[in-house]
Amino acid sequence: MDGHRDCNISFHPDETKKHKGICPKCKKPLVIGVMNRVIELSDRTEEEAKEHGQSRVPYTSLVPLVEILADTLQKGWATKTVQAVYHSLIAALGSEFHILLEVSLEDIEKASTKQIATAIDRVRKGNIFIKPGYDGEFGIVKVFANGDERGVARQQGLDLM
Ligand SMILES: [Zn+2]
Repeated sequence: MDGHRDCNISFHPDETKKHKGICPKCKKPLVIGVMNRVIELSDRTEEEAKEHGQSRVPYTSLVPLVEILADTLQKGWATKTVQAVYHSLIAALGSEFHILLEVSLEDIEKASTKQIATAIDRVRKGNIFIKPGYDGEFGIVKVFANGDERGVARQQGLDLM
């Protein structure tokens, strides 16, 4: 998603185009989502979309699961903690795409924590913050804006280990 966190603006790339890349609140250029860290994948093929009278293939923006876990647990994606939770989720629930798109929040919570389930729910709803990288640094994906919310997640995440 593109947008301004301070203005509470979060746009789908199509909406960004409609607004010519300008924030309707503060009139400054919008922060464009870091697409190299966000996977766009089609729900259906171009053919199927045409059958439904749509010219455009709808897609879902996904944040890689390790990024979600890294932000929720407040640890780097390559850390043992994040990798262990990642692998335990895959082992319990199936593929990453299946977890991100289809598994019920209840099942995700059972296999991990309520905060991780909440984080995946936020990603599904596009309720996340993406900060672009600068000067060769990678961008940052933020699932939680609220530090307290994340603090609870971190504790629960450590309890998993
Ligand atoms: Zn703005």
